[in-house]
Parts: sequence; structure tokens; C-alpha cells
Amino acid sequence: MDIHDEASIKSAISDPSVAVLFAESLANPDGNVSDLSMLSRLAHDAGIPLVIDNTMATPAMCRPGDFGADIIIYSTTKFLSGHGNAMGGAVIDMGKFNWQESRGYPALTEPDPAYHGITFAETFGEYGYITYCHASALRDLGTTLSPFHAFLTLSGIETLPLRMRQHNENAQKVAEFLDQHDKVDHVSWAGLPSSPYHHLAKTYLKGGFGSVFTFTLKNGYDEGVALVQSCNLISHLANIGDTRSLIIHPASTTHRQLTAEQRQKAGVGDGVVRLSIGLEHADDIIADLAAALASLNG
Ligand SMILES: *Cc1c(COP(=O)(O)O)cnc(C)c1O
Repeated sequence: MDIHDEASIKSAISDPSVAVLFAESLANPDGNVSDLSMLSRLAHDAGIPLVIDNTMATPAMCRPGDFGADIIIYSTTKFLSGHGNAMGGAVIDMGKFNWQESRGYPALTEPDPAYHGITFAETFGEYGYITYCHASALRDLGTTLSPFHAFLTLSGIETLPLRMRQHNENAQKVAEFLDQHDKVDHVSWAGLPSSPYHHLAKTYLKGGFGSVFTFTLKNGYDEGVALVQSCNLISHLANIGDTRSLIIHPASTTHRQLTAEQRQKAGVGDGVVRLSIGLEHADDIIADLAAALASLNG
């Protein structure tokens, strides 16, 4: 579904079996930006909550609750812990969604026999959803963060604004370098004035345009594989949001199981390479990419 196509979102969520509208604020992999105010209006008109994955933007760059999001989720594995050394996730309930007067959420609005017949939305009011997450999802699924990973994540969050500033500054230099390169067809980074998401980024993001983005090589698949193998400073990894710069060629790795057509639709065609720009000196990151690009035949 095209998250920027108002009419098709509206028609899709009019289906009464749809329970939430879900989007990323800043999207992995190609750095697109969602129109959060438009999405929250559509979701609320349909009587469903807006759930926003804010992993890529982080609270340092975007506060989705200010634009009407009801539930915000994070992979803390990425920028929040920030050093590629801890796994975790977080769910934030803004406490504003009225579950009782909405489309139908029996887990929250009907008595729960596993908890002596309490009704979560009624008993816990604005804490109904998050209490249900604790009492049922966490208990039943066992998704408990290990103490050591909790410690690493909390230590990481202390430097989040500083790190995001440097991630963003470095990403800008790298994106501008790639945008001028003759072996690069296209750079998908919302900070470029030519990006169709530039105006949305200015509305919804603060302090930068993100440091995870894709670029497309003029020549396709084999050059994408070769480029990744030719990088030295930049590590070949599927993670994002690490202090170290990371690179991956999705078509031959993370998205290899999809057909060429499905990959094209997901924004990861044959020549697409994803970067997660780290905290090294920008000149070093650019030198590594410049040498790897120079080594390509095509
Ligand atoms: C990685 C990622 C996830 C999944 O997080 P895990 O910590 O790997 O479970 C979810 N959303 C986004 C945007 C991500 O980048």
C-alpha cells in the first residue's frame, strides 16, 4: 500500500476488519517520510488508532504523538541503544485513543476471564492498552528485555541527541557526494531538495533528515554486490543505527526471496544499495565509498 495515497488508504481502512493504521514516520530503507497528520485524520475518521514505527527518526527527530499518533513503537536495537550491541523494543501508548467508542477491540473492552473479568479499557482508562500489553502480551509471549541489554540501551539513550546530530550531518555529506557521482543514478534521501518527501521531512522531522537511505547504481545487480564487497571502512551488515557505517545490497541479501517485480515495488531494485551512516569522520566514509565506486567496471 502506498502510504502517501490518501484515497487508497481511506478505502483500505474502511474495511471493518482493519484494526489499526500502521506506518513508519521515516521509512526504512529509502528514507521516505509519512504525512502523520493526514494519517491520523484518516485513522480517527475510521475509528482506528494510528500506530507509528518511529525507529528511524527516534524521539530526537520526531514526536509522532504531537501529530496524532496513538501508539508509537521502537526497535531500540537501532539508534536508541545506538552501538549495535543490544536488542530490544519499546511500545509507547499516548493514552488518548478511546477503545470503547471505536471499531471493536474486545481484548480491551470486554471482560477478561484470565484477569477475574476486568475490562482493561474501563479499569485502567488511559492506561488500558499499555496495561494489557504488560499483563497479557508480555506475560504470555515472554518478550522481556535482558537486564544487560536494558543497561546498554539506557546508557545509549543518554547520548541519543548528540549521536543523531552527527549521524545526520554525516549523512548529508555522504548523500550530497553520491548525488553528484556519475555511477549513481539516484539518491533517495529526504534532505535533498529534489526529494518528493523533502517538504514532509521539514514538517515532521527536527534536526536533520535521517542517516539511513538508499541510492541506485546506474548499473544493476552485480555492481551492487561488488560495491558492498569493495568497501573497507563501511561494514557489510543488515543492521541500522550503529555508531559504525553499514552497507547492504538488499536485492542479493535481505530481499532475495522476493521476485524482481516485488523488489522494485518495495523500493529495492537490482541497483539499490542501502546505507546506515555512522559516526566516523565524514571524509573517511566518503573516501571508502569513492574507492569502492571507482573499482566498479560499469
Ligand atoms: C529493525 C527494525 C524493526 C525490527 O526490530 P528488531 O529489533 O530487529 O526486532 C522494526 N522497525 C524498523 C523500522 C526497523 O528498522
